[in-house]
Amino acid sequence: MKNSTTREQTINNIRQTPDIDILIIGGGVNGIGVFRDLAINGVHVLLAEKADFCSGASAASSHMAHGGIRYLENSEFRLVREAVKERNRLLVNAPHYVKPLPTTIPMFKAFSGLFNAPLKFMRLLDKPSERGALIIKMGLMMYDAYTGSERTVPRHDFKSRQSSLAAYPLLNPDIIATATYFDGAILQPERLCVEMILDAEAANPRARALNYLAVSGGETDTVRLTDQVSGESIAVRPKLVVNAAGPWIDFTNDALGRRSRFIGGTKGSHLVLNHPQLREAIGENEFFFENKDGRIVLIFPWFDRVLIGTSDLKIDHPDDVRCTEEEVDYFIGMLSKVFPSIKVTREHIVFRFSGVRPLPTQDAATTGQISRDHSIRVIEADGERPFATLSLVGGKWTSFRAFAEQVTDEALARLGATRTRSTRDLPIGGGDQYPATAKAQRDWVNAITAESTLTPSRIQTLFERYGSRAKLIAATCAANDDQPLTHRADYSTAEIRFLIQLEKIVYLDDLILRRTLIGMLGELTLPLLQELCAILAAANGWDDARRQAEEDRTLALLAERHQVIF
Ligand SMILES: Cc1cc2nc3c(=O)[nH]c(=O)nc-3n(C[C@H](O)[C@H](O)[C@H](O)COP(=O)(O)OP(=O)(O)OC[C@H]3O[C@@H](n4cnc5c(N)ncnc54)[C@H](O)[C@@H]3O)c2cc1C
Repeated sequence: MKNSTTREQTINNIRQTPDIDILIIGGGVNGIGVFRDLAINGVHVLLAEKADFCSGASAASSHMAHGGIRYLENSEFRLVREAVKERNRLLVNAPHYVKPLPTTIPMFKAFSGLFNAPLKFMRLLDKPSERGALIIKMGLMMYDAYTGSERTVPRHDFKSRQSSLAAYPLLNPDIIATATYFDGAILQPERLCVEMILDAEAANPRARALNYLAVSGGETDTVRLTDQVSGESIAVRPKLVVNAAGPWIDFTNDALGRRSRFIGGTKGSHLVLNHPQLREAIGENEFFFENKDGRIVLIFPWFDRVLIGTSDLKIDHPDDVRCTEEEVDYFIGMLSKVFPSIKVTREHIVFRFSGVRPLPTQDAATTGQISRDHSIRVIEADGERPFATLSLVGGKWTSFRAFAEQVTDEALARLGATRTRSTRDLPIGGGDQYPATAKAQRDWVNAITAESTLTPSRIQTLFERYGSRAKLIAATCAANDDQPLTHRADYSTAEIRFLIQLEKIVYLDDLILRRTLIGMLGELTLPLLQELCAILAAANGWDDARRQAEEDRTLALLAERHQVIF
């Protein structure tokens, strides 16, 4: 089992062919979306990501594939319509990681918001307020209309107080009703990103994406890239630059000598709770509502954990944002409003994460009113810089594909090339040939089991973890020396080696936080971390000192960024 192209080979290849069509800066979902679209259209493109893929804003989302019903109130009709369509596409193109998500709004008032909304549409009212049942009903009817005839998800449904309490007995008895509508849950955003990169590289040998490669500056027609592993520099000469550095867009433009002030990011944090009683109380529903000051609260079923969030706070610098103790207090306080009899404490928190929304600079009275729509900001070529830069401002995880399509069309036009393929119906990774129904899934697992030495339950686990990509992973496990991990028997040594060698893993945190969910779901133990580090060390030929240093670095990162302490 060996990666066809190693990191060193890719770096050599970049050195040997410095003249490229397009350089994409940033491997979040927006940069990766553009990379995939350009790749399938035959463009010579390089994506450079300074850290790991999907480790910035794209790793900090609330995991919702949604139209954003509350943006209707900010008159963002275009955005909501587009995002609903993209949500539907994700449910079809990435069914292994994006699943329908029933979303329930608990309501405490009948009327509030009804008279505010028209004022907000006309931009006359800046103060948010808690939504009442009537305004929610109006919004949900519009939302259903946007789903249109596609019907990837059912229409919304209102429940009386009595039926709501029968369905969710621990819900606050002060409610007057609940409304349930459907969105999508993006269960593994980090894996979707890496799978798109692998798909793109498989489709086009002139498309390369490298993590831990930072854009650090440049002179006239060259851009300087710095390998964050070796510290070495490489120069490339692009015809066009796509700046998809998210919250770091302005810093990156500045480094290229193209000063911009496009981004006014806001921080959002989340907690992952191990709380079986709360998990049971919400069932497979997300609870989603807005509190009096307009802040969104979500209580989201995530495997056997509960994800809660989120905040929306203006920040000065996107580096080093952390979930603070004040945010934790706020989240716990909001939970007690919805499920007052359930006791949640800091003991239940197994993971915390924060990120910065790359929103446009805007003078809104509240952060919730800053537009969530996306736009391309162009800095044209000039005497100092012979290439134009397209900066990707704003956007939602859900609508990355539509944004990427818009950027790709602009980029192709600038290169004088024409689009030959679309990503609209293009499956992602293990979503390709994914069996849709429960029966088709059973047949799929049986068929793979019949041609494998692995047990049906092992194939089932791999299928749930990787979708149809499980076929390749099962074959690799069967063909190689493979053992269950000592400290986590549902993972195996060959499976982990597969991820390390074929999914661009450089550091241990890439493996535990982004190629698997072990870290984010709070399933890590110190012995398991050491076992995984030993497999990584063996795959990379590290000596004991290097292995120990990596273990220490990862432990420090988990403690400092995610407050996970062993
Ligand atoms: C708290 C929160 C909740 C959200 N919830 C949702 C949700 O539920 N649903 C939804 O649809 N959207 C949601 N979003 C929005 C969505 O996640 C973001 O809009 C989207 O992920 C932005 O992606 P991006 O690729 O533009 O930025 P990023 O993911 O931040 O990617 C930018 C990348 O550029 C890299 N980079 C920076 N500088 C350089 C350099 N010099 N050289 C190389 N690389 C560089 C960074 O390391 C980073 O990986 C949420 C966002 C946040 C923060």
